[in-house]
Amino acid sequence: MTGPDRESIQPVESFASMTDFHPVIGNAVKLIGYQKPTPVQKWAIPTTLAKRDLMACAQTGSGKTAAFLVPILNLMYTEGPGHSQAAVRANRRKQFPVALVLAPTRELASQIYDEARKFSYRSQVRCCVVYGGADIGSQVRELDRGCHLLVATPGRLVDVMERGRIGLDHCRFLVLDEADRMLDMGFEPQIRRIVEQDTMPQKGQRQTLMFSATFPKEIQHLARDFLQVCF
Ligand code: AMP
Repeated sequence: MTGPDRESIQPVESFASMTDFHPVIGNAVKLIGYQKPTPVQKWAIPTTLAKRDLMACAQTGSGKTAAFLVPILNLMYTEGPGHSQAAVRANRRKQFPVALVLAPTRELASQIYDEARKFSYRSQVRCCVVYGGADIGSQVRELDRGCHLLVATPGRLVDVMERGRIGLDHCRFLVLDEADRMLDMGFEPQIRRIVEQDTMPQKGQRQTLMFSATFPKEIQHLARDFLQVCF
């Protein structure tokens, strides 16, 4: 990914000062009523808009969901899907999301999906969610209606990929939310299968954002393998 030097990225101090937000995001932020960005949003929003990869230590309640959804959706609205719609239309039974958010649990995935719907209200972007422990048939039927941003738990995503219903060939944004919890729950093989052993673009060809409450060795290794580090 290209972008300005890290030193030139300035934190955002208010949502009102972000005058170059796409109208869908600007209106959603107004409607939801956010005024002052939380600490993680102050840095994650401009860093992501500058097309940098990101590793952030952030807890639940820190506002991390909007910290990645706002800039990613903004880039999706301003830059378009970035791949040929003809290629996608040729394969009607397979969806090619532009953004993928991995989360450890059904509850967190549902919360992220709800927030994504707010930030894509009245836009062309369709958001979907897949998680284990629920009927896969209805989740796949939802995917069939179109999927630009997918929120998923790792196990269920592998299942849907193996059924040939999701292709990651055009995925330009990858988010790992609560990465430490995903590793604690034993999802590392599924995460590596999704990110490294399928058709997901390589690091450097996609933008990757990792959020984790803690930063142990295992997370440092994942960050080293998945993120384009810039010094
Ligand atoms: P999260 O950490 O993403 O689960 O967010 C925790 C809560 O904070 C959610 O209810 C969000 O709607 C809310 N929130 C996120 N960002 C802001 C903000 N900038 N101002 C006020 N509330 C926020």
